[in-house]
Amino acid sequence: VQRPAGAQLPRYVRVNTLKTTVEDVVDYLKRDGFAYLGQASRLEDLTLKVKYFVKDMHLPELLVFSSKTDFHEHFLYKAGHIILQDKASCLPAYLLNPPPGSHVIDGCAAPGNKSSHLAAVMENKGKLFAFDLDAKRLATMSTLLLRAGVTCQQLANQDFLKVDPDSPQYKDVEYILLDPSCSGSGMVCLRDDASSADQEKIQARLASLASFQLRCLNHGLKFPRLKRLVYSTCSVHSQENEKVVAACLEQNPGFRLVPLLSQWPERGLEPLTQCLRASTAKTRTHGFFVALLEKHSENGNKKQ
Ligand code: SAM
Repeated sequence: VQRPAGAQLPRYVRVNTLKTTVEDVVDYLKRDGFAYLGQASRLEDLTLKVKYFVKDMHLPELLVFSSKTDFHEHFLYKAGHIILQDKASCLPAYLLNPPPGSHVIDGCAAPGNKSSHLAAVMENKGKLFAFDLDAKRLATMSTLLLRAGVTCQQLANQDFLKVDPDSPQYKDVEYILLDPSCSGSGMVCLRDDASSADQEKIQARLASLASFQLRCLNHGLKFPRLKRLVYSTCSVHSQENEKVVAACLEQNPGFRLVPLLSQWPERGLEPLTQCLRASTAKTRTHGFFVALLEKHSENGNKKQ
């Protein structure tokens, strides 16, 4: 089966509200020769001709362009006013929605697009503790956050699984974003049709990734004041998605899933339909999965 190439996905641009507004970016681009068609209302509206753009129908700070658009040399990108980020990858920070002033952890953070989005949601107020094992990726992240005008971060080249949830510095952490290493099977450009001889290797790798992802999730839920944790992968495999979340919920009965965006066109696989999936066919994005877990309120099952 011939799959649509990555080059055919729309180009998504997240407006960095730490530096500018959606209105200002729209005006700038109109003056720069782009034609603005207003807000999209259907999936088909996201397939655009060159030089046309729309506002996304699900995410308020997202602009959508033709697959042939490249902003890497554009002033707005170089100045950190816009971030080039796939639509699906904007979901985690948007859904976690930590209020300004809150303390937040991004456990597997580099190269940092989701951290920069979190900082924008927090309006740079509060604390964003960001961890990554890979020093090189963390250095790239530092540059990216500087360009984006992020100032509330504290970066650490550290294994998230070894971060002590009972350390006094994390005592006010109420929100966690976890986007751990995954197979990347949702990335359109990485997809290939493996021969059956490779299947055994692939299954072993998936099992090892899933076990790491579950450990990350279980670890995140140990932070004493945690209210909400968002989990995401760019994998299409249920082993890394619904199965990890289901195992985690079974092991942590004090947490439950939050039903996400009723208007989103693709849900998690049964029975985890509170979660979201994304794909080229249904959402015009890379393949992606998001789950939002929240702690039960102390007096019964009411939502906070
Ligand atoms: N959230 C990032 C973003 O939006 O730019 C992408 C994260 S990427 C999917 C996963 C990251 O997890 C990698 O940078 C990898 O180095 C890091 N990682 C893997 N194991 C880790 C661990 N035990 N602790 C912290 N980071 C880890």
